Amino acid sequence: MTMGPMKLEQALHAARALVLADLAAGEVARADIVSLVEDAIAHRRWWVEQWPEGAAYVAGLVAQDVQDALLERYGRWPLCPVCTQGGDLHALDVEPELGPDPHWVCGKTAVAVAPVGSLGTTL
Ligand SMILES: [Zn+2]
Repeated sequence: MTMGPMKLEQALHAARALVLADLAAGEVARADIVSLVEDAIAHRRWWVEQWPEGAAYVAGLVAQDVQDALLERYGRWPLCPVCTQGGDLHALDVEPELGPDPHWVCGKTAVAVAPVGSLGTTL
């Protein structure tokens, strides 16, 4: 299956919307952080143009890109809502790291917290 430019743009647009929704859910969708999303989208546009079959993986990858960028500049995101006891705060992981239908997962309890883009329904 080949994907045309429209499909790639749709995948990128969807990835952007999903990650922005999760940032908004955590009330961290500030202008400087939104620019991190734009940087990640720009990078993944190049990536998916080289490998169009990976279009379904873009949302999970952008989520991880933004997570990494936030860790460098602001700290862990999104914090795990499962492990709120005992002061053991950690960030959720994206699973699969490279695959379709990405979810935020607690790496300590293996609880799938929410699909990427749906953190607002659980936090
Ligand atoms: Zn956890």
